[in-house]
Amino acid sequence: MAVSERVSGTPEQGRTVRADTQLRYLKGVGPRRAEKLADAGFETIEDLLYVLPFRYEDRRSFATIADLVAGTPSTVEVVVVSARLIRTRRRNFTIFEALVEDASGQIHAVWYNRRYLATAFETGRRAVLFGKAVVNRYGRTVLENPDYEFLDEEDTQGIHTGRIVPVYRKLADLTPRVLRQLLFRSLAEIDARTLSLRVPDEIAGRHGLMPRLEALRETHFPAPDTTLAELHERRTAAQRSLAFEEIFLVQLALAMRRDGFRKRERGIAYEVPDALRTKLAKMLPFKLTTAQKRVLGEIGTDLRSPHTMNRLLQGDVGSGKTIVALLALLVAIENGYQGALMAPTEILADQHFRNLRAMLDSGGIECPMVLLTGSLRAAHRREVEGKIASGWAKLVIGTHALFEAGAQFKDLGLCVIDEQHRFGVQQRARLADKGRHPDVLVMTATPIPRSLAMTLYGDLDVSVIDELPPGRTPVKTVIRRERERKKVYEGIRSEVARGRQAYVVVPLVEETAKSDLKAATVFAEQLSGDLAPISVGMLHGRMKAADKDRVMQAFTGGELSVLVSTTVIEVGVDVPNATVMIVEHAERFGLSQLHQLRGRVGRGAARSYCVLMVGKEITSKEADERLGVMVETGDGFRIAERDLSLRGPGVIFGTQQHGLSDLQFLAEVIKSPALLEAARGEAQAIVADETRYAEALSILDALPARWRERLELGRVG
Ligand code: ADP
Ligand code: MG
Repeated sequence: MAVSERVSGTPEQGRTVRADTQLRYLKGVGPRRAEKLADAGFETIEDLLYVLPFRYEDRRSFATIADLVAGTPSTVEVVVVSARLIRTRRRNFTIFEALVEDASGQIHAVWYNRRYLATAFETGRRAVLFGKAVVNRYGRTVLENPDYEFLDEEDTQGIHTGRIVPVYRKLADLTPRVLRQLLFRSLAEIDARTLSLRVPDEIAGRHGLMPRLEALRETHFPAPDTTLAELHERRTAAQRSLAFEEIFLVQLALAMRRDGFRKRERGIAYEVPDALRTKLAKMLPFKLTTAQKRVLGEIGTDLRSPHTMNRLLQGDVGSGKTIVALLALLVAIENGYQGALMAPTEILADQHFRNLRAMLDSGGIECPMVLLTGSLRAAHRREVEGKIASGWAKLVIGTHALFEAGAQFKDLGLCVIDEQHRFGVQQRARLADKGRHPDVLVMTATPIPRSLAMTLYGDLDVSVIDELPPGRTPVKTVIRRERERKKVYEGIRSEVARGRQAYVVVPLVEETAKSDLKAATVFAEQLSGDLAPISVGMLHGRMKAADKDRVMQAFTGGELSVLVSTTVIEVGVDVPNATVMIVEHAERFGLSQLHQLRGRVGRGAARSYCVLMVGKEITSKEADERLGVMVETGDGFRIAERDLSLRGPGVIFGTQQHGLSDLQFLAEVIKSPALLEAARGEAQAIVADETRYAEALSILDALPARWRERLELGRVG
């Protein structure tokens, strides 16, 4: 059979399979695999069709054996001359070797631990091999572990070789090869009319989308004239159609949810009389920045309106979000409701508690408040819970413990969630369930490009504090290597001699791994010796809350000059007297995380320093390339953009926790705001039109369970 015929695409025979067919009925799946797939959230063929390739391999052009060059992957069409299984002295290690030929010559192909190939590679069989030629240790050129297809096997032809081949991540225990085969067959046999409705026809038409099945086919098994670069950049018409579809669905779900919030109409309309403003203004130890005032205005409008507030407050580290939150909370409290402030760690909750207490006291504002964290002793905790339930406590500061069953509010009016990226959408929803329909303000220090914010928080309104309070001196940032450690320590000494304090952050591969903690502890002890007589303390996530507390208090109070810590201090800790931030193995941190860490210093008027120590494993050039942006700029947005291009959105914004981590086209959302705007516009138009409500519901209803959970569609309507 001629090569060109084999390459020319999808078989067109009998489309008889329904899209909602359970995977266990597929040839090659079986009950055990089906179960594993179901565990991973894939139940039907339609689910499987959305397992998209993460890259493609160009196996289109055929070479002859004589042409093969070591190191270059090539496709060859061959006849099997002979084959043998070689047992080696190593247990459980076999080599299967086939001698193959074409008109230009012969070559050996070898596979490791694939004894089952012995039955397939019969002498005289015609096959297509794709793989890399390598020179083995006897100086012979061989094909190593090539992918293969037999020309007498109708089933597998033109799937794995002779085309642009999709490469998948391993799913359940399906190898990329088996997955490819399953997808090929499903795409060939599925009946397009049985696919669920996702993008209504008229919208698809308006945006020139490809028909669904065609788009899926082209994305999995691209036509021979497709450009590889376009595929990898996800710019083909097929991929853009699927991207539109996904973005549209997410936006539709978010729009529905937001609409649901609005329609409940039971939000609280607070009053903000002038007397209250004056009273609060008097409490402030400083003048608000213009940005803080603007944001307060936006929040104030929400609070006065009868609709429920769902607002995201974005502001770089140190931009002064806490005071904004406090003012909003006081409005709720003065209106007779309870206010809650939730922090991601106990240290932070504790710090908020003390700071707010001090601020309220010095402003002469009476406001009963409690702290609720997971580490409270049972009796104490019951007491605190009692105060919350009775309504005695007006201001409640806490951690995740606020979600737990025991904590019932009497009348929660406003809930502020600090450092949103540590919290999931689900937790946000759960907390909201604690009040009737409390207003929710979530705060994050991670600068998020607008397009991404609309995807991750499409159901929220967004306010931005884009200005730092006056009087801050930019932090001087330097990259240092091991051999400069002495000098770095001298730097610490001289700052401590001036009465300043320093953080030293050590990365843990795993916050809970014992060996890591030990390494961190050993490091702290050594540092304590090197810096003697300076007092050095240590803080890590596994310490008991009371111990953490003690250490943190000692540092805040100035008894400890140096604090060695794991990243537990990353978020929000505020000790204005600290002027040095040393990050060990800075190369192991993401840029956004480094920015957060650096934000712990430079809070006062004194000059502050951030030292990025890099390990031996990394060259100066690599370090400069990646960490250079930290030296260049203090602008969180620029740093986030750089991080985004280096690591992708999932890692940075903790989308795992948003439940949107496996949105396949998240990156496209950022690269192509136009696509997002278009899809979002259509989704909003549907939700705004009462007559199309049922249509919207039925689209969302048809989504796989996996998606529904993720988008929390259970909560809609
Ligand atoms: P973040 O946005 O990182 O949570 P904080 O709310 O912790 O920032 O504020 C950082 C520091 O700046 C705090 O010490 C706070 O008291 C101070 N601050 C906040 N707003 C102002 C302001 N308008 N003028 C001066 N200092 C301010
Ligand atoms: Mg903060």
